[in-house]
Amino acid sequence: MIYRKDKNWMKVALKYAYYAQEKGEVPIGAVLIFQERIIGVGWNSSISENDPTAHAEIMALRAAGKKIKNYRFINSTLYVTLQPCIMCCGAIINSRIKRLVFGAQCNKLDNKCSLKDIFLHSEQDYKLTIKKNIMKNECSDILLKFFQKKRSLML
Ligand SMILES: [Zn+2]
Repeated sequence: MIYRKDKNWMKVALKYAYYAQEKGEVPIGAVLIFQERIIGVGWNSSISENDPTAHAEIMALRAAGKKIKNYRFINSTLYVTLQPCIMCCGAIINSRIKRLVFGAQCNKLDNKCSLKDIFLHSEQDYKLTIKKNIMKNECSDILLKFFQKKRSLML
């Protein structure tokens, strides 16, 4: 049951990843869910916004903050198509979301440090549940194809 819900919300996040791709951005999407409702959506916008911090997760958190007029998202779940980078992990800690669900794993990040390490050193009273590999293939395929296309254009 929980898995089906996770898959459904990940499908929405994936829709925003495709949207990012249409805009010429790296195809990553995110949605923030509170009580079965979307309170924030985001997609990578670094290129169009000229903003290195405009990752899908950050954009979703910003949108949610404006919507609910709070900077803390206790009891909410963040769905993102790719494992968050270190900057986004920091934002997740500051936002106090309850669950993080992501699709594809980032190999680059995993070699250096694991998510567990990052969150272990966060605030002591903050506990985050992490679920990975939800729609892993779909989430990594869109990224692989995007970078393959980019590389072929550079040759
Ligand atoms: Zn990030």
